[in-house]
Amino acid sequence: MKAAIKTSRRDFIKTGSVSAAALLLGSKLSAFAAPGKKLGIALVGLGGYSGGQLAPALQHTANCYLAGIVTGTPAKAKDWAAKYNIPAKNIYNYQNFDEIATNKDIDIVYVVLPVSMHKEFTIRAARAGKHVICEKPMALNASDCREMIAACKKANRLLSIGYRLHFEPHNQEVMRLGQKQVFGKVNQIDTGNGFTYNGDPNAWRLKKALSGGGALMDMGIYSIQGSRYTLGQEPIAVKARQEKTRPELFREVDETIYWELKFPGGAKVTGKSSYNNNWSYLDLTAQKGKFKLEPAFGYGGLDGTVNGKPMNVPNNIQQAAQMDDFANCVRLNKQSRVPGEEGLKDMKVVDAIYRSLASGKWENIV
Ligand code: NAD
Repeated sequence: MKAAIKTSRRDFIKTGSVSAAALLLGSKLSAFAAPGKKLGIALVGLGGYSGGQLAPALQHTANCYLAGIVTGTPAKAKDWAAKYNIPAKNIYNYQNFDEIATNKDIDIVYVVLPVSMHKEFTIRAARAGKHVICEKPMALNASDCREMIAACKKANRLLSIGYRLHFEPHNQEVMRLGQKQVFGKVNQIDTGNGFTYNGDPNAWRLKKALSGGGALMDMGIYSIQGSRYTLGQEPIAVKARQEKTRPELFREVDETIYWELKFPGGAKVTGKSSYNNNWSYLDLTAQKGKFKLEPAFGYGGLDGTVNGKPMNVPNNIQQAAQMDDFANCVRLNKQSRVPGEEGLKDMKVVDAIYRSLASGKWENIV
């Protein structure tokens, strides 16, 4: 009997069709989830990540589909409508966005805008009655994250952060090895994430008011997360320093930051973020073994070793797995494994790192 339920559940998730499992789970289904139909996602902001990753991933999802778009550029609306067969009634701009409240095709709003706009559009989406996925970093600071969480709670809508690596097999494997202490306690972590920025010198990523910060907010957040999800603990203090080799380009935001995190278990944890180095690794030493991912944080081609031997797990379409999982959470009215609170935890660390850069001292993470 158990096995039968398992199989049906898997089929349900895979096909998105009404199945025995849907009926079995019937009592748990959200009033807003239409069983048997894929949930509609509207992407807000049609830039590099929406166009390059999310829209293509939505061609591989079982529980949700690209139902709508929100853009400030009419020419983009026209191109996307033609490419993805989006009806005119499901296309909004930033001004008339709130009218999405009456659109039954849209169940989930996915905010893929510059960081300074995350709070506003997450709150407007929740008030319009939509469940929300918000891209990382969640907001300009922890205080804004708290407002976003409260607004979604008040509107009784689910909030999730675009933390795709929680749905990626290599990162899931290091979470398992670390949290379950397969090789004993992890007592040392070194991690870095960054790329050499050669883009537009006027891009929003380099403007503090729009980005909140530089490589730390954009890339370092993955290393902070990696440390947290392999240890399964929350850090309590941090000390950081920074360097700038191109101060004219990084006038307003950080280029390279190095930090040390203090965890309650006493593990020695160092991390770094950069817009001037191509880093992507998560290196762990436990009492009785070592495991490592490199590259650790990209969209694909991730690789890892366990005690020097290949990890041998597959790569997947991370964003498809992430969005399918959230759509399933909406159907079941259950919290995502990467809720707003998870974004807040990272932003508390980021805030403390910036405070440490200013004070030159250890700063508590509060
Ligand atoms: P982008 O610059 O390519 O796109 C930003 C979009 O926002 C554009 O369509 C732009 O027109 C629109 N926009 C609206 N108002 C704007 C304003 N005032 N200034 C600038 N742009 C404005 O950026 P992106 O790389 O797509 O990043 C968007 C979000 O997605 C960011 O939060 C970023 O951190 C996140 N992201 C996440 C991942 C991931 O792997 N999870 C990867 C890339 C980006």
